[in-house]
Amino acid sequence: MARLRGRSLTAMLKEALKKFWGYDGFRPLQEEAMRTVLDRRDSVVILPTGGGKSLCYQVPSICMPGLAVVVSPLISLMKDQVDALRACGVPAAYINSTQSPEERRSVSRSIEQGQLKLLYIAPERLVQPRTLEFLARSHVSLFAIDEAHCISEWGHDFRPEYRELSLLKRQFPKLGVHAFTATATPRVRDDIAVQLGLTDPVRLVGSFDRPNLIYRVERRDGLVEQIRKVLEQHRQEAGVIYCLTRRDVDTLHTTLSGMGYRTLPYHAGLSDEERHRHQDAFVGDRVDTIIATVAFGMGIDKSNVRYVVHAGMPKSLENYQQESGRAGRDGLEADCVLFYSAGDVVSWKQRWAKDATAPPDGALESLDAMAAYCTGAVCRHKALTRYFGQELPGELCGACDLCLGQVDTVPDSLIVSQKILSSVVRQQERFGGDYTALVLRGSHDQRILQNGHEKLSTYGLLASESQRTVRDWIEQLAGQGYLRKVGEYQVLEVTPLGRQVLRGQITPRLLKPAEPDAEEKRTKPTGGKLPGSPKPSVAAESWEGVDRTLFESLRQLRRKLADEMGVPAYIVFSDASLRDMARQRPQTLDEFRKIRGVGDRKTEDFGEEFIELIADSTG
Ligand code: ADP
Ligand code: ZN
Repeated sequence: MARLRGRSLTAMLKEALKKFWGYDGFRPLQEEAMRTVLDRRDSVVILPTGGGKSLCYQVPSICMPGLAVVVSPLISLMKDQVDALRACGVPAAYINSTQSPEERRSVSRSIEQGQLKLLYIAPERLVQPRTLEFLARSHVSLFAIDEAHCISEWGHDFRPEYRELSLLKRQFPKLGVHAFTATATPRVRDDIAVQLGLTDPVRLVGSFDRPNLIYRVERRDGLVEQIRKVLEQHRQEAGVIYCLTRRDVDTLHTTLSGMGYRTLPYHAGLSDEERHRHQDAFVGDRVDTIIATVAFGMGIDKSNVRYVVHAGMPKSLENYQQESGRAGRDGLEADCVLFYSAGDVVSWKQRWAKDATAPPDGALESLDAMAAYCTGAVCRHKALTRYFGQELPGELCGACDLCLGQVDTVPDSLIVSQKILSSVVRQQERFGGDYTALVLRGSHDQRILQNGHEKLSTYGLLASESQRTVRDWIEQLAGQGYLRKVGEYQVLEVTPLGRQVLRGQITPRLLKPAEPDAEEKRTKPTGGKLPGSPKPSVAAESWEGVDRTLFESLRQLRRKLADEMGVPAYIVFSDASLRDMARQRPQTLDEFRKIRGVGDRKTEDFGEEFIELIADSTG
């Protein structure tokens, strides 16, 4: 009986997903999250950016009687969310301060008449007694709390007004309250449940990997030219370039726009009005590239961001994950390129020193982890997810510079690694990285002589390399699990995996030290010997069979329709839908209806025009 019910509920959710959104299946954990909503059990759902959190409450809200109330911190986002829902034929509205009293009254009226399925509202308005009374009289089906990490002081974006939301469970004890966020740390996760007063919530934590993002890291070396290469690969596509300072933003904007690229700056030094204008131009596809400080991003829901470039190293991997995560929300491939220099670490420390305050709790460790990511030789996808406590299976991801063989590795990585590991063994696993590097380089350091380590057979084996390089290699071996750092003094030990290297059974990946002429060698992929065969790149897969000329024409039609409707282009159709159209070339409305991301409403509203264009282009 219960199984039967379970299956029919899933069928109902699937039907709504297809009818309104035109999607054929669930993303990971979506089904579980939706079922929890239907069951009116409280939940905390952690999915990465682009994981499809919104649908987790939007789809069930359609299947349940009454009105779903969505708490969203960003007024700027509400309109987009509501426009997107309406474009799919879902009756939705928002209430906020940008509206006239008359507009707000009209929303209240449609709620009273039971015409709305979803209402977006900011927390401070929701908790007003008037609103709560009104909602108590209306038939509310559920509460969804977007960006739920804002309730936690441990999060990166604490908002005191979120704290008041604890009254929801008290005033509406029978309704499910569902918290959604992309923020990963367990401390924040637990805090959300506690602060909201959730009753035995279902916890769903997704994978933090974003397989469609292609990560690359390069040493900064002729930055403008490095960035120009990225832009050339993404002509007329949307992207964000993050800089560390306002001044860097302005300089880069001047340079790139001088070269003919359509860019706009964004930072806290601009007026509110300017910032809004630039953000709108970006969301509305009237400019390709936003050059920004970290001030930019929160509240950007644009799904077709095709690249995120970091002109400098962020201060933590949390920051990097979040900022780079703005790329590729539509699930299509997107490039995340990080340009760093060793000086970036110093700049961050100087900044903290200038504030005359101690760096925030854990900041130095976060900075170290970030730097290790940059210089590391671990698959970027693995390194990122590992940082958030998850292990990715598999050997080569097919979507990072290292796994794609675009980074120069040391040709004799195995031998160099063996030299390092055997030195660690001969030092009886009692010394740290700096010391080990000194031994390998044949240093006359007092401590080495005292320990008699100049007599070790590994002494001076890497004398031709710089201390920095050997030190980097040791870190790279630790990052890949061949060495382990133990205790307060970070003493090096060889792991069982490292023993296999000593026996010549596996070859670690060691990066070639940076040279001044690093530029040229990057263009020709080389790469060391690695086990397994590389997967086809993410990019090649998602363009498979797509007629690019037709795709361009479809994009122009989308632009025209979006302008007429006064909404961002991606609300009409995502890039994924356009690529599918340019691949399938639907000729009838029935065929059009089968395109990814095309539901009943969009077939009706846009089908004819797109089919006509496709027919014309086929000639
Ligand atoms: P999040 O809020 O988690 O960052 P969104 O809810 O904005 O993610 O979803 C990201 C994109 O993925 C949107 O364009 C959305 O329409 C799309 N999407 C969500 N769920 C699915 C699905 N099951 N199948 C296909 N696309 C989906
Ligand atoms: Zn990889």
